[in-house]
Amino acid sequence: MTKPLVAVLSGAGISTDSGIPDYRGPQGLWRRDPEAEKLVTYEYYMGDPEIRRRSWQMRRKNRTLSAEPNAAHRAVAELERSGVPVRVITQNVDGLHQLAGLSARKVIELHGTARAVVCTKCGTRGSMADALARVEAGEEDPPCPECGGILKSATVMFGERLDSRVLGEALAVAKACTVFLAVGSSLRVQPAAGLVGVAADHGARLVIVNAEPTPYDELADEVVREPIGTALPRLLRELAAAERRPRSEEG
Ligand code: ZN
Repeated sequence: MTKPLVAVLSGAGISTDSGIPDYRGPQGLWRRDPEAEKLVTYEYYMGDPEIRRRSWQMRRKNRTLSAEPNAAHRAVAELERSGVPVRVITQNVDGLHQLAGLSARKVIELHGTARAVVCTKCGTRGSMADALARVEAGEEDPPCPECGGILKSATVMFGERLDSRVLGEALAVAKACTVFLAVGSSLRVQPAAGLVGVAADHGARLVIVNAEPTPYDELADEVVREPIGTALPRLLRELAAAERRPRSEEG
């Protein structure tokens, strides 16, 4: 018998305890500052060298790369170690699930990763740390080492489409999972919002952990408002314990 699959959809709220503010959400820092939003909007970035210079300076100062995973990230990694099949679908680009010890292949990054760069011309990828070292060394807008093309963060910028393969994987997980936990997401942005509906339509038990109400609270089997750093470890311990119980003990 196949073990039940636990899907965790994580949004900005799971990384708040790691000191990373909400950048891209509807109320996020970028959306509230038109000048900052330009730095992460594909059209402006590609069309204006000055925007790129400022964007690299912003990346240098970004706290995302030096952040550490918190108790919630560690709890998800712990769930995997306990043998429960788990997949994470994340709206975050901080890579903290993997840093906490979760296998990279278990993480679907809807918006890409801030820890890598990609060439907009030839698609070559490299590490953000290496690119930032070049900025530190004086290159204001470091080009692709392979073809000289424009390098960007390997995140999905505003005005860019989500990777259809990534989206397909996320949909497959939403359809297949038996439990779907939406954690720290406003669930007001696609595709995250749609994935919740898909999971519920396919019979998953839906648990929402978020400080603020979401449009899916009515649909949820359980809504948890307590802080994610304590709520998620508790919920996942309970799930793991239920897994270890013999079937005969179940209601
Ligand atoms: Zn290139």
